[in-house]
Amino acid sequence: MRIKRVAALAAAATLAFGLTACGGDDAGEGTGAGSKSFAAGSTMEKLNKAQKIKIGTKFDQPGFGQKGLSGKPEGFDVEIAKIIVKELGIPEDKIEFVETPSKVREDVIVNGTVDLVAATYTINDKRKERIAFAGPYYEAGQNILVKKDNTTITGPDSFKDGTKKVCSVTGSTPAEKIKEYVKDVATQVVLFDTYDKCRDALKGGQVDAVTTDNVILLGYIAKDEASFKLAGENFTKEPYGIGVKKEDTAFRDFVNDTLEKAFADGSWKKAWDDTAGKFGAELGTAPTINRY
Ligand code: GLU
Repeated sequence: MRIKRVAALAAAATLAFGLTACGGDDAGEGTGAGSKSFAAGSTMEKLNKAQKIKIGTKFDQPGFGQKGLSGKPEGFDVEIAKIIVKELGIPEDKIEFVETPSKVREDVIVNGTVDLVAATYTINDKRKERIAFAGPYYEAGQNILVKKDNTTITGPDSFKDGTKKVCSVTGSTPAEKIKEYVKDVATQVVLFDTYDKCRDALKGGQVDAVTTDNVILLGYIAKDEASFKLAGENFTKEPYGIGVKKEDTAFRDFVNDTLEKAFADGSWKKAWDDTAGKFGAELGTAPTINRY
């Protein structure tokens, strides 16, 4: 008798929950314009009504955003973006991913080419002058990639002798930081627009090293373990944020809430385990969201 009553209560609860989750009308699997309601005039409402979204990410960074045979980018940034899109009530197949190299990230947010950027994007004050960041959702650190048989580069100080060339990407924080270590920027620092070009230059012997965040370099090592290794320890902290329009505080709050929910419900960890987590970097504990 008692067991029956408990079961009936559980069934009723499931039914009630199911209806709430679907929001009644045309919801299907929790997506669709009718499945969520957002404040009138908000970016969330606009995107939910449009049922599509444009996201800026990298296409050449294994583990974070890399376009593979599927034709769609894959990686931790892509998974984090999908978590946000799901919370907006937009189906995953309505995401348009736009390749967004480091130096254009602020531009594409400011001019509205994309709705948000998830692209190994370090939160810093200079960038905050033009755009806003939700997050952080991960903390990386700058490191150095060398050929596996290299014994002369052991950390950033190895560039101080003025002889070794190091490659990085225009508009990135590592490209700026490494200038503090080299003797002659003009001859030692080589800049491209994407990291895969730096990797190819290292493999081809045009440069002696590549510098950027450890997790990007670990992705390249995972794809070509016979050729590359890290030289030394991380020497900066690179907290990753989601870039949104500077004035759009409501959207930033929404992304922050979504990230906190993902930290708590396991979807953040799953996103990591399915992607960059396979390449040897640690996820660590969930960072504290900075609602500045
Ligand atoms: N996290 C650094 C940055 O935002 C380096 C990685 C990148 O260029 O995407 O500049």
